[in-house]
Amino acid sequence: MKGRVVVIKEYGKPFEIEEYDVPEPEQGAVLLRMTQAGICGSDLHIWRGDQVNVPLPPSGRLMGHEGTGVVEQLGPGVATDSLNTPVKEGDRIVYSAVFPCYHCHLCLRGDTNWCVNRGYAAAGEYPYFRGTYADFLYLPPRHPFFRVPDELPDDILGPVNCAMGTVTTGLMRAGAREGHTVVIQGAGGLGLHAVAMAKDMGAGQVIVLDRLDNRLQLAEEFGADHTINIEEFNTAETRVQRVWELTNGRGADVVMELVGRAELLAEGIDMLSNGGTFVEIGDIVRGREVSIDPSKLLAGKNIVGSLMYRPELLPTLLDFLVRNQHKLPFHKIISHKFPLADINEAFPQAEWNQRQTQITRAVLVP
Ligand SMILES: [Zn+2]
Ligand SMILES: [Zn+2]
Repeated sequence: MKGRVVVIKEYGKPFEIEEYDVPEPEQGAVLLRMTQAGICGSDLHIWRGDQVNVPLPPSGRLMGHEGTGVVEQLGPGVATDSLNTPVKEGDRIVYSAVFPCYHCHLCLRGDTNWCVNRGYAAAGEYPYFRGTYADFLYLPPRHPFFRVPDELPDDILGPVNCAMGTVTTGLMRAGAREGHTVVIQGAGGLGLHAVAMAKDMGAGQVIVLDRLDNRLQLAEEFGADHTINIEEFNTAETRVQRVWELTNGRGADVVMELVGRAELLAEGIDMLSNGGTFVEIGDIVRGREVSIDPSKLLAGKNIVGSLMYRPELLPTLLDFLVRNQHKLPFHKIISHKFPLADINEAFPQAEWNQRQTQITRAVLVP
């Protein structure tokens, strides 16, 4: 049996689709058949060429990290998921989208999301299926995965192992809790999940900024108390002032950067109350700079970076969805579906850099 994988061979050029033999899972491994894979902001950065300083392997790089699938084949010795729930072929699975080495000092202390040996999978190397823009995904032995509760529909599962895990970890690192004011810069896939999770964690007030009205509207449906359209408030000064007005002169306890623009760090620090925390998540592109006035940090303001999540969070997120799926419009986050073969049409349509798009989250379906 053969399967397709999407490969990027050159930044800024169309993707190529290659076919490889589908491997038999080894002892402890699992072969998933992908059912959908999300186009994440970080995938757009790669496609757009924002990371030209990261060289591509000669054979090209596999694409896609978030997504969900069903068990195609269990390797010898695999009968349960990571929480001892029995699994069989055809079961729906959410897996950790972090593939760490389990060997470095950070993995040893459990910070697998900060593993120093995480890298991008090169195309053409066994077991071939190591990106989610593909027909299959190979989970190596001992890779964390979880059976999806039957009551959850497929269409809300895609973002669980990227956007949802990432923003929840960011909120936890900021110490977000009951009564806090949380400002969310960017109402895409990350931002909408951040609104829902911040409210679930007890945030008293959530304020969301974006350029797209459809996204801000959706943010309100997810529980945002206030939205700020940055076309209307079109300078950093007016946006900062608006946050201070909306918080009655107290400022925010947490500001989360979910867009990927360096200058939002400086803007976000000015939105914080003393003791508040700025969480940098979106700016994954290296080499961008912003200047800040360090004296603004003296009264206890914090800046923390956050990247992905620990796999133990995934069952908590599935529980969160079970509790909230009928209260919040998770089914609206995935706004567009494209066949995998149409990936070179999907990416230009999902692009939000310097343009408007109706897409909140697009997924590729094999
Ligand atoms: Zn992602
Ligand atoms: Zn490691």
